Amino acid sequence: MTSALLPTYARAPLAFERGEGAWLVSREGERYLDFGAGIAVNALGHAHPHLVAALTEQAGKLWHTSNLFEIPEGERLGRRLVDATFADVAFFANSGAEANEAAIKMARKYHAAGGNPERFRVVTFEGAFHGRTLATIAAGGQQKYIDGFGPKVDGFDQVPTGDFEALEAAIGPETAALMIEPIQGEGGVRVIPHEHLRRLRALCDERGLLLIMDEVQTGVGRTGKLFAHEWSGIAPDIMSAAKGIGGGFPLGVCLATAEAARGMTAGTHGTTFGGNPLAMAVGNAVLDVVLAPGFLDHVARVGLLLKQKLAALRDRHPNVVQEIRGEGLMLGLKLGVTNTEFAAAARGEHLLVIPAGDNVVRLLPPLIVTDGDVAAAVERLDAAASRMEPALRGAAE
Ligand code: PLP
Repeated sequence: MTSALLPTYARAPLAFERGEGAWLVSREGERYLDFGAGIAVNALGHAHPHLVAALTEQAGKLWHTSNLFEIPEGERLGRRLVDATFADVAFFANSGAEANEAAIKMARKYHAAGGNPERFRVVTFEGAFHGRTLATIAAGGQQKYIDGFGPKVDGFDQVPTGDFEALEAAIGPETAALMIEPIQGEGGVRVIPHEHLRRLRALCDERGLLLIMDEVQTGVGRTGKLFAHEWSGIAPDIMSAAKGIGGGFPLGVCLATAEAARGMTAGTHGTTFGGNPLAMAVGNAVLDVVLAPGFLDHVARVGLLLKQKLAALRDRHPNVVQEIRGEGLMLGLKLGVTNTEFAAAARGEHLLVIPAGDNVVRLLPPLIVTDGDVAAAVERLDAAASRMEPALRGAAE
């Protein structure tokens, strides 16, 4: 039977019924090791008891009130995020793209409030991905996402990543902000060197620009720090986060300094669902775990273990795995075979991985993975790589 769903996804012919930790169970009862975590979303794995308890307890009390009233759980989550980061204020949304929309609007409004409404342009970087709304596809700058959807939203200029000459040239009297992912996720797990982030910060300070960090994929512990930019020692003015922050419940947030948010007064921005009591209860429960002593150390340690094992995998299959990229539990394999075919081969070994740009597959396991899960994943990758070797030989013949 044909599907009633809009065919915008190339879905694998596989459906899951339940999950536990880093494992998913298919409708047929087969177990899969989930090293995609819903594209870096299930930060605490599946059916984490603390999240299940928080969600079900809140579900029995109150789901939604609108933002016309105070939402104490949201006040609490906002305060905890502010206390744990560079930020002074938080705006809750439902997705990464919405968090980025808030970030972009805030940067524009900052300059408007300062008497410079002509400063509305945002410089972004090649390989970026910021979402699928009209503004965020323009920000991401990828033609394949822009084509056919009418005129590209004005106000975004893109430069090659790491090209500071091009960046300087792109900054003009209308520029409001720079926007960057500290590690490009969809672009192929491309790590922006810490030194580059520091130069971007200095450039923003020099030119009176705001620095927007898109931590939708890198945030909430994924790299072994609460947010990835912390590794570089600098702080943004505005930051978006989503994905892991709700552990699977739709939740996004735009965090900012009070100065950057100076234009966002009552009535300037809003959302029906953002920050509702259900999302806030789950967000607080995620933070309970991620901020607990030792949790981020676990991510850093197990991430290093995975990276070491992947390096050995590359040595065993140099034609299939060419390069290991990334930090913490956001790792990528740059492949010598087609990434979608490799992901299918891994699925054949009951391991889920996620294709990305630049012919990379991403490993984005739940942050609670154990050493045993890591060993099992690498065994399965090894088997998938072995499956792909004959294909390579076939292509060479
Ligand atoms: N920004 C980054 C860095 C992302 O990786 C994504 C999603 O993959 C987004 C923004 C968009 O998030 P969402 O799909 O929740 O709108």
